[in-house]
Amino acid sequence: MSEDILRVSDLSTRFFTNEGQVNAVESVDMTIERGEVFGIVGESGSGKSVTALSIMDLVESPGEITDGSIEYRNEDLADAIRDDHPHAVDGEFVDLLSVPETVHSGLRGTSFSMIFQDPESSLNPSLTVGEQIAEAVEVQRRASSRPRSGRARTQGVQYSLGSYIASTILPSKKFVTEESKTRAIELLELVGIPDPVKRADEYPHQYSGGMLQRAMIAQALAGEPDVLVADEPTTALDVTIQAQILDILADLQERTGMTIILITHNLGVIARMCDRVGVMYAGEIVERGTLEDVFVDHVHPYTEGLLGSVPDLEDVGGRLEPIEGNVPSLLAHEMGDGCYFADRCPRAMEECLHKPPDIEGEGSDEHVAKCYLAEHPYDESQALPEGYFEDRTMGEVTADETSSDETTEEMRGDD
Ligand code: SF4
Repeated sequence: MSEDILRVSDLSTRFFTNEGQVNAVESVDMTIERGEVFGIVGESGSGKSVTALSIMDLVESPGEITDGSIEYRNEDLADAIRDDHPHAVDGEFVDLLSVPETVHSGLRGTSFSMIFQDPESSLNPSLTVGEQIAEAVEVQRRASSRPRSGRARTQGVQYSLGSYIASTILPSKKFVTEESKTRAIELLELVGIPDPVKRADEYPHQYSGGMLQRAMIAQALAGEPDVLVADEPTTALDVTIQAQILDILADLQERTGMTIILITHNLGVIARMCDRVGVMYAGEIVERGTLEDVFVDHVHPYTEGLLGSVPDLEDVGGRLEPIEGNVPSLLAHEMGDGCYFADRCPRAMEECLHKPPDIEGEGSDEHVAKCYLAEHPYDESQALPEGYFEDRTMGEVTADETSSDETTEEMRGDD
């Protein structure tokens, strides 16, 4: 088994909005091995992207990582900061949430890189694609003079602080060197852009959607990151281009040994690309394991529901079975006491209503599920009556109406 490169433990990210506290990511645990493709799958609003942004240190106000640790294995970095931040270092691991924010954010590009969902809004329309990738190459080369990433430092380029500051305030065309422009063209070639020398001088509006996504991947590779986070990298593309982009990612992963965290709502993409997968629901990882664990031996009814929503090519004309209902509100004051999936779960039991189930197991290769069915078989004697949640909702509405009637009566009385 490969060594762990990232250990995420008890990670919680909240948004403090006018409506109240939103628990977007709740006590997420996962361990990513070096060189694997780890998939995170779930519906929109399940917390996948916020988990990725938390790892990348890109959560913006009113969001905040409130708990947990993100430990990254990097011996050079651990050695460099051990004296100043001993509490943040555990052997070769550094807890990115215990180091100064500049250290965490400074790892972007050289250690962690991200491909975003929408390439059209991620590139600057006023600069050529080649300039933008060359800028990324240059920034990462200058950052590599600091002890952040062992891989980036192998490029061997050193800059003084003075030249770094002077160059960062110059216009971008002067910022990049001939060497970084050449590297940008190599990267465009690496991701399959035809005639990369000519294409490097074109602007984003001259690229198709698929080419823009390739350019984004090239830019993300500029600093030779250890971990590439790909957030729905094929969502905006048609199916043939999707396949090409996935091929590029798989090929890069095989050639470079890079670790990839792949975020998607598409189980087909997971099946094609990933070694292991975490299923997210309502901000939590509710099931985690190998592809076989999740696709064949799944335990959690939500995983089963996701799989039932996938078209079956051997059953053309067969009906899909959607998961009834909607993802729950993540506002803390609206979340119930029990399992967050209970009102959509076809096997919800009495015990599911009172206390959330635990998730057992810490080993990165263990199959775990956050469901009482992982502890014991379905207990029919505890089954909820049919229509239980509809009746309860109706009851709440009636109670609300009653209380509003009472309030109205009280107001009339006050008058
Ligand atoms: S804990 Fe209960 S309600 Fe939640 S998914 Fe499992 S069986 Fe369904």
